Amino acid sequence: MIIAVDGPAASGKGTIAKALGRHYGLPVLDTGLLYRAVGLAVLKAGGDPDIESDALAACSFGDETLADPALRSEAVGSLASRVSVHQAVRDALVRRQRDFATQPGGAILDGRDIGTVIAPDAHAKLFVTASVHVRAQRRYQDALSHGGHPDMDSLIADIQARDTRDMSRDHAPLKVADGADLLDTSDLSIDAAVRQAIALVDAQLEGRSRG
Ligand code: C5P
Repeated sequence: MIIAVDGPAASGKGTIAKALGRHYGLPVLDTGLLYRAVGLAVLKAGGDPDIESDALAACSFGDETLADPALRSEAVGSLASRVSVHQAVRDALVRRQRDFATQPGGAILDGRDIGTVIAPDAHAKLFVTASVHVRAQRRYQDALSHGGHPDMDSLIADIQARDTRDMSRDHAPLKVADGADLLDTSDLSIDAAVRQAIALVDAQLEGRSRG
C-alpha cells in the first residue's frame, strides 16, 4: 500500500506522514530532504542553485547526508526550492523515490509531487494545507524553541516566495492530485489533524476495496 501526502511548506504534512507511518506500520520518506540535500551540496560546492548543471552535479549524495541537521534550516529549504525547478534534478531523484514507494509491504511518502508524479496510482492521497499566517507562526515557534531569533515578516515572505516558486514551476508543480482529499490544518491541533488524516485514508482505502 502506498500513501501519498503532499502540501506546501509547514502545512503539517511531515508530522501527519510520520503519524500515518506509525498507525499503519509503514516506512516514511520525507522527499523534501532529497531536494534539501541537493541544495546544501550545491552550496558547499560553491555552485549556483539556479544553474541546472550545477544542481545536477550535486544529486549524487549518500544516504548519510539525509541525517545532516543542517538540512532543516529555512535557508536550505529555500535552496531546495530553487534546485527543484530543474527537470534534470527531479529526474535524478525519481528512481530513489519510486524504489522507496514500491518496496514490499508499502510505504508513505510526503512531498510536493507524490500523488501527481511519483506515485499517481497511490492507494490513498492527501493534500495537507494551512493558511500562510498559521504556517509562518509554526516556523516562528519552531525557531524560538531552537534558540533562534525569528522575524515574522521575513518568515511570511519566505513562505510566500516558496509557495509561488513551487506552484508555478514548469515541472511537477505543487497542486492537488486527482483523487486527493484536502486536509486544512489551520485550526486543528496535531492530534485532531492526525485523526482526520487517518479517517480520510481509511475512507479512501475502503472506497478502493469496494471498487
Ligand atoms: O518539504 P520541504 O520544505 O522540506 O521541501 C523543500 C523544497 O523541496 C520544497 O519547497 C520544494 O521546492 C522541493 N520539493 C519538491 N518535491 C518534493 C519535495 C520537495 O519539489 N517531492
